[in-house]
Amino acid sequence: MQWIFVGASTIASQHMISAVRAQAGSDVTWIVSGSGDRTAKWADEHGIANSTADLAEALSDKGPACVYISSTNEKHHDQAMAAIATGKHVLCEKPLGMTLAEAHEMVGAAKAKGLVFGTNHHLRCSGTHRAVRDIIQSGQIGKVLSLRIHHAVHLPENLQGWRINDATAGGGVIPDITVHDADVARFLLGEDPVDVVAQMAQSGMGRGVEDSCMSVWSMPSGAMVMSHESFTHPFAGTGFEVHGTMGSIFASGVMTQMPVGSVTLVTAEGRREIPCSDHSLYVQGVADFTAAVKGQGAPAASGSDGIKSLAVALAVREAAQTGRKVAIEYGA
Ligand code: NDP
Repeated sequence: MQWIFVGASTIASQHMISAVRAQAGSDVTWIVSGSGDRTAKWADEHGIANSTADLAEALSDKGPACVYISSTNEKHHDQAMAAIATGKHVLCEKPLGMTLAEAHEMVGAAKAKGLVFGTNHHLRCSGTHRAVRDIIQSGQIGKVLSLRIHHAVHLPENLQGWRINDATAGGGVIPDITVHDADVARFLLGEDPVDVVAQMAQSGMGRGVEDSCMSVWSMPSGAMVMSHESFTHPFAGTGFEVHGTMGSIFASGVMTQMPVGSVTLVTAEGRREIPCSDHSLYVQGVADFTAAVKGQGAPAASGSDGIKSLAVALAVREAAQTGRKVAIEYGA
């Protein structure tokens, strides 16, 4: 399967090109990015046959069936709409767009054309998150009472660009990380948050956008979710805890791009480590997407999942801006 990559980005170069090449018979045949010279050099470095700054030129190639979009956030909508218009399946980075209306338009356009649309929420592809979801679904911890997500990291220096200083490109920790945590909560608990309260801060890195956020979400079942994201915490570590009436799950070091971390189940019977698969999150995500394109199954995270994670993130930001509890609007 041939792919067009849109956005000569860090995530493409560190994870997604190799994730595509890990699929039998698949390769990236185009890279499209803003500057012609930089894009050509990037193509050369990554062994990609074609490069251009003109998206329409790449999309006019009938060979590739799939487009992966990892440009800055404000470009996702228009690039996805152009790809869908030419009949390509789209795997788009989170957040899908700058607004809920954009996300709905993208996902709706793909659906109208019978195309597969996926959101690259990698965390739900990990062995640890899938193991935790299985434990919850098996009933071993009883009724879930609460989920605490710890996702405060230190943004590496090479990523301290638009994310920390450019609201128009979709910067800020809420569109960057809270959006992932919203998907994690929905994936683990199998329900959609109803409303949120939140506070955000600039704690040393953000200039004009928030670099830290804490929020609390209520779930339809009555479970409470507490979520903490930051760009400024070098030694905090990541993870989450799920607490139920009959047990607790401690997932440590698992809010990451790598297949690492541990899962511990604690019940009346004692404490036990849960074995988890250590497959690559991104290879799994591309495998699920590729299978869906071939008519087998669905992407790990669908377009609808991308709409919902964005809706939660937008509500968190509104709650933090206004100081009020915000009911989450998912749209039609
Ligand atoms: P980068 O900042 O590395 O690249 C994004 C865009 O910035 C590029 O497409 C390019 O824009 C421009 N750019 C990058 N480097 C340069 C440069 N040296 N000179 C000029 N322009 C440059 O993005 P990330 O990889 O950090 O993020 C890309 C997208 O992926 C975002 O939407 C982000 O939210 C998402 N993401 C998802 C992750 C996941 O695990 N699912 C992890 C990390 C990011 P242009 O193409 O317009 O020229």
